[in-house]
Amino acid sequence: MNALQSICVFCGSKSGNDPQYQQSAIELGRLMAQRKITLVYGGGSVGLMGVIADAVLASGGQVIGVIPRQLATRELIHPGVTEMHIVEDMHTRKAKMSECSDAFIAMPGGFGTLEELFEVVSWVQLGIYAKPVGLLNTAGFYDPLLNMVEHCIETEFIKPKYRDLIIADETPATLLNHLQQHELPVIEKILDPEQI
Ligand code: AMP
Repeated sequence: MNALQSICVFCGSKSGNDPQYQQSAIELGRLMAQRKITLVYGGGSVGLMGVIADAVLASGGQVIGVIPRQLATRELIHPGVTEMHIVEDMHTRKAKMSECSDAFIAMPGGFGTLEELFEVVSWVQLGIYAKPVGLLNTAGFYDPLLNMVEHCIETEFIKPKYRDLIIADETPATLLNHLQQHELPVIEKILDPEQI
């Protein structure tokens, strides 16, 4: 059992076209607060980002936001979080978010969410850090992406054992259970983050 004290959640700065995305963000936030897992996220109050932060706070949980100065207006910095870090740029944002987190979850989102997800998966694959990565596949949102991963495995661009670097589940409760029980596959390339 992994004692997860904090999880970084990547999610859309929009809410999408299906109310299930918001419901799922509310449920994930509520469960994280109940299980005393701190939410680390992008610091905004727009889209699913705002929904999950509000849900954690409403259930008495802790929220750490990390937002680049230039985005503070566009993503409407959240006024009520426990801790807010205003950083200089996107790279610092991602570094700070991962430094504060024991695991990652990607909820439905757009380019920003996908970029954040694939950065952490590829860094775990390189052995830069060893933290579980979950995909909240609400209403099958990520089915096309999971098919793409299968395609990469079939065409031998991803090793089959690394399929398990992404833990996908349809509900917040099962995803959190899996992340808390997950064992990472043995990683072949171990890189020192200081040398990158
Ligand atoms: P999106 O999924 O496009 O709505 O973006 C979700 C979040 O990811 C937003 O807070 C964006 O500011 C953030 N984001 C987008 N691109 C990057 C990046 N390259 N590095 C860090 N955060 C990003």
